Amino acid sequence: MNKSLRKAVIAGNWKMNKTPAETTELINSIKPLVAGADCEVVVCVPYIDLFAAMEAVKGSDIKVGAENCHWAASGAFTGEVSAQMLKACGVEYVITGHSERRTYFGDTDKTVRDRTRAALDNGLKVILCVGEYLEQREQNITMEVVSSQVKIALAGVTEEELGNVIIAYEPVWAIGTGRTATADQAEEVCKAIRELIAGLYSKEAADAFVVQYGGSMNASNADELLDKEDVDGGLIGGASLKAPDFAAIVKAASK
Ligand code: PEP
Repeated sequence: MNKSLRKAVIAGNWKMNKTPAETTELINSIKPLVAGADCEVVVCVPYIDLFAAMEAVKGSDIKVGAENCHWAASGAFTGEVSAQMLKACGVEYVITGHSERRTYFGDTDKTVRDRTRAALDNGLKVILCVGEYLEQREQNITMEVVSSQVKIALAGVTEEELGNVIIAYEPVWAIGTGRTATADQAEEVCKAIRELIAGLYSKEAADAFVVQYGGSMNASNADELLDKEDVDGGLIGGASLKAPDFAAIVKAASK
């Protein structure tokens, strides 16, 4: 499978960080550093920062995403935001299935599928997160876990819709821990995800499909991870909050 068929995507996941004013400031620092990047650059920000982010990215190629969306269009879901609402605001990307949503907020494979469905139905691009807990890796069931997460989330997604989906392989033990998967571990799972996509859809779909790695990717390890044949970018937490570090990762993906 040929990496040159795909454009890398580097997406920041800001998690619960930054006020609107701080959002403007950070994007203004990132903008000149990533100008002319040969990869897609996305910042996924808290809901309250979306407008500030969309205003700040004007005049650049940086895209804006949300960190979650609800599956219903509207209704009695206090505190939630729907995919339809995000689309109406001009948001382009949304993360679904992040492990922090699964671990702390009760997201299940089924609710991740429903959120993904709603996002696609509303014309959003989805960064679908999958990944195993440390105990699951130690039990040698990483691929069973990841395959089942992918299959459930993509149930009913057509090959055409798949063009709006990215999968971020994020081993839970590597997120926010400073403990990165080795480049070989990342490649092994990203490659297996691509093979799974080939089996579920087609070789053409798999060749064009973007699989990111996420989990303590930073300015020092990005080159090695992004050099791997099946690692087409990264979902970046901590390092996306520092403009020079995020820009260094974007640079590594642009080679
Ligand atoms: C993430 O939040 O998706 C993530 C990968 O975080 P970090 O880069 O901080 O591990």
